[in-house]
Amino acid sequence: MIQADPCDISVVIPLYNEEESLEELCQWIVRVMQTEQLSYEIILVDDGSRDRSWEVVKKITQEYPTIQGIRFSRNYGKSAALNIGFKATKGKVVITMDADLQDVPDEIPELYHLIANEGYDLVSGWKQNRKDPLMKTIPTKLFNAVTRWFSGIKLHDFNCGLKAYKGVVVRNIEVYGEMHRYIPVIAKWAGFARITEKKVKHQARKYGTTKFGLERFLNGFLDLLSITFVSRFRKKPMHFFGTMGLLSFLIGLLMVGWLIIDQLFNIMPSENKSLVTQRPAFYLSLVAIIVGVQLFLAGFLAELLATQSHKSNDYVIAETINQGS
Ligand code: UDP
Ligand code: MG
Repeated sequence: MIQADPCDISVVIPLYNEEESLEELCQWIVRVMQTEQLSYEIILVDDGSRDRSWEVVKKITQEYPTIQGIRFSRNYGKSAALNIGFKATKGKVVITMDADLQDVPDEIPELYHLIANEGYDLVSGWKQNRKDPLMKTIPTKLFNAVTRWFSGIKLHDFNCGLKAYKGVVVRNIEVYGEMHRYIPVIAKWAGFARITEKKVKHQARKYGTTKFGLERFLNGFLDLLSITFVSRFRKKPMHFFGTMGLLSFLIGLLMVGWLIIDQLFNIMPSENKSLVTQRPAFYLSLVAIIVGVQLFLAGFLAELLATQSHKSNDYVIAETINQGS
């Protein structure tokens, strides 16, 4: 666990093709920090942008020593960008926001207060008045309802880019794949359960376009299934596969036992019972036994894998600026 707290706030900003908004956003954040007299660092993570974003980042980092840049060699996705940004943070409180100016830096002081003084582990922004097309807001409602139900965390808006965390939270969780939508769930599973939300202002996208289409909802649901599964059984896959396998195997065995006894002693007389292979139950029991053995084996293999260290995040950092100072 990293202990250092050399500044009050680390702001982590993942960005992918956001050249137009970066400068305005950084100036705005700096203005807020100076007014509130908070010490801060801003970590701009360029997720393999193909426009001039990195040039802009370079320019900004020259101007402000408190701003750092990390550039991926290609586009790895928002989760990877957040993850690498999180690892670089040193602040007592960590705030994430999108680079497109949809989130408003004026919310930072209040979010900071909730973490630093009220003792929350995580405060999630809630875009109650969302400035996005209906195509996006309606499926999002459904997505949030399902996630609430699955995770037991009572948030209205899981996927809001604007969130605040205790530093120790983000430095101890792994965000991979497209799991950025479920950071509250990941945090809760990691034992950081003091989670709340705060209504935040939301603005329409001024520049550029959204980077996520409708596929986000299917991917999001599959991710939720795997995150639930992984967090419950990652360290003990045999508990899942073994139980299912054993159950299936026993059902098969009981059916076979019954078939043999019935065949020998003719307990339930019927006409076409001369051959055991003419009875459907015979095939069902075979399938049950085979599936059972397979599940058991899968559990065993998964158990072997789980005991090896696993690396779900492995990406190439092309460049960093103002890091490690
Ligand atoms: N983003 C990223 N990598 C990606 C896609 C998006 O870093 O592969 C960043 C993007 O630049 C923005 C944030 O994630 O800062 C949210 O993306 P976007 O605004 O497109 O999502 P929306 O607001 O439409 O949900
Ligand atoms: Mg956006």
